[in-house]
Amino acid sequence: MNKHKIAIIGSGPAGYAAAIYTSRADIDTTIYAGEEPGGQLTKTTEIENYPGVMGKTGPELMLIMQEQATKFGAKMVYETVSDLDKLRSEYDGVILAMGASPRLLGVGEEKYWGKGFSTCAVCDSAFYRGKNVCVVGGGDAAIEDAVALTKFATHVTIFVRGSEFRASKIMQKRVEANSDKITVMWKTNLKKIEGDRVETLTLDIDGKEEVVKTDGLFFAIGHKPATDFLKNTKVEMDTEGYVKPGNGVWPTMTTVEGVFVAGDCSDHRYRQAATAAGTGVQAALDIERWLESK
Ligand SMILES: Cc1cc2nc3c(=O)[nH]c(=O)nc-3n(C[C@H](O)[C@H](O)[C@H](O)COP(=O)(O)OP(=O)(O)OC[C@H]3O[C@@H](n4cnc5c(N)ncnc54)[C@H](O)[C@@H]3O)c2cc1C
Repeated sequence: MNKHKIAIIGSGPAGYAAAIYTSRADIDTTIYAGEEPGGQLTKTTEIENYPGVMGKTGPELMLIMQEQATKFGAKMVYETVSDLDKLRSEYDGVILAMGASPRLLGVGEEKYWGKGFSTCAVCDSAFYRGKNVCVVGGGDAAIEDAVALTKFATHVTIFVRGSEFRASKIMQKRVEANSDKITVMWKTNLKKIEGDRVETLTLDIDGKEEVVKTDGLFFAIGHKPATDFLKNTKVEMDTEGYVKPGNGVWPTMTTVEGVFVAGDCSDHRYRQAATAAGTGVQAALDIERWLESK
């Protein structure tokens, strides 16, 4: 019998975890790596919360995952997929694992990844014990991040673009409850970041320029799933572009038969390497059983 052939779109934790399982299950597996081989973790330094891994940086962890997947036969293709239907005609099944990128402001922040700038408070708050930090954003995520940071940081300042929060009332109450550790600055836009690490921020506060010092800068202004190329397909997505999983008996299958999904491109809640890898495993097991059932 010919081997089943599948394609995995994305080479982050979800894509590699899926590939480890499918290639070990003797399914011919091709990983399309996209523009960011290794995914979002390649932007960061030490990873402290991936079970079983200590003392490794994000890029090191992703190389280990790649090695583990290719050791069992998965093939890497360094291309970006733009046509799902064409890919479906070439393979017996597809796993979507394209991730979701944090939204940025374009004020030079990309130079500071791992040097005082982060978009993941759950991942990085513990590095800011006894420090002063700032959070950009006015929604639930910004407040959640600010409150999480108060456990470690001495003080947290939230920069809100408008004159009120977009966050829910219940979240706003959490700011009030932590008012000794959280300051809110309204009508505040970040304009410039300076220092070898994040050190000096230039702000526009209601039209007036002000310069402040900080030890860390967190953005909580949303994420964008890398799903634009699915717009003209039958893969159902929510209003923000996250792929909707769950098709009858196959929890990770999308609305298109044989197309499965894993990781941050279908998750706006957890967004962690371990949860992405976990759903990658689920998608791999589902695609394997679905192929056998055909
Ligand atoms: C700075 C930073 C630090 C973080 N730190 C931590 C941490 O310490 N611990 C933790 O658990 N989580 C952390 N996270 C979150 C974690 O990185 C993500 O939750 C995780 O990487 C999501 O995995 P994923 O496989 O779903 O997607 P991603 O890692 O985003 O990977 C997506 C992959 O899809 C590819 N791709 C996209 N579109 C296409 C296409 N059309 N064709 C082909 N390929 C495509 C990309 O090139 C990439 O390889 C951090 C995130 C950031 C940004």
